[in-house]
Amino acid sequence: MHPIKLPSVLAAFAALLLFSSSAIAAPPTSGIVSAHGRLRADHSHIVGEDGKPVSLAGVSFGWSQWEAARFYNAGVVNWLKQDWHASIVRAALGIDPAGYLGQPAENKARVTAVIDAAIAADLYVLIDWHDHHAHQHPELAVAFFQEMARRYGHKPNIIYEIYNEPMGDITWAQDIKPYAERVIAAIRASDPDNLIVVGTPTYSQDVDLATADPIKDPNLAYSLHFYAGTHKQSLRDKALVALNRGFALFVTEWGTCLADGAGGVDAPSVQEWMTFLREHQLSHCNWAVYDKHETASILAPTAASIGNWTDADLSPSGRFARELIRNWSADPAK
Ligand code: MG
Repeated sequence: MHPIKLPSVLAAFAALLLFSSSAIAAPPTSGIVSAHGRLRADHSHIVGEDGKPVSLAGVSFGWSQWEAARFYNAGVVNWLKQDWHASIVRAALGIDPAGYLGQPAENKARVTAVIDAAIAADLYVLIDWHDHHAHQHPELAVAFFQEMARRYGHKPNIIYEIYNEPMGDITWAQDIKPYAERVIAAIRASDPDNLIVVGTPTYSQDVDLATADPIKDPNLAYSLHFYAGTHKQSLRDKALVALNRGFALFVTEWGTCLADGAGGVDAPSVQEWMTFLREHQLSHCNWAVYDKHETASILAPTAASIGNWTDADLSPSGRFARELIRNWSADPAK
């Protein structure tokens, strides 16, 4: 477990000053997207418009339909940029009866609020179809991503993530790949060039299986998810298989703890992972902007819905992830 630093009287005083200064952080005028432009998969690297590798660090919002719903706003996006130095955020459209299936307008509005705020803040944003069963209703994803591509496809900020985590009981060849090809075709009808990230078998771990039978598209990466308490070198070995074949990977979600969101913060394992991500110039988003009572949530229930969080509003995992993201350079040479 990562040691927890108790907030000092001084820190509490500073937080009070900060809190009184502004209700919502002001949106910055320029940033990471202005510097690197539309991202592109170039063999095993994600590069900017100048052809140089870009390695982003940021945070994923939690499922849009539950505890995380209150955080889907510009205040939080701006706070993640200003205070966490995030270069990317991930809007996780929850697809289940309580989410997009049952309340499509409400959940889509949350996600587009984050997308619009990310564009205004000059951040990259993943539009994440956060579903374990996406192949069972491909027509829904096709319609949603068609709309997103028409609305946002001209913006360099946008990255499409079309299947969060396929489960282990389906196959790449028969279930995931045919679904992905349908959704990709729908996106490409309106947006020929923005990066698309495809989920891989077994909760986006089997990048070796997906890249053995790759999808043909000019700008594609494969999802690699890890939870540091559960996944170690054997998963990095799978990643190396895909990278050595010349395919780009994107860590659209990772956690400090066990794969079920519990356990402690496994700091040594996170460090091994971050060394690996740095070495291979990979981008990553920490799970999650959430105040659910589990280790992976970055927030405590005291956290304000619009950002301006003090140390005491963060969970141990949140404090740990914040330090890591603040110290990450998008330029892999630094
Ligand atoms: Mg485009």
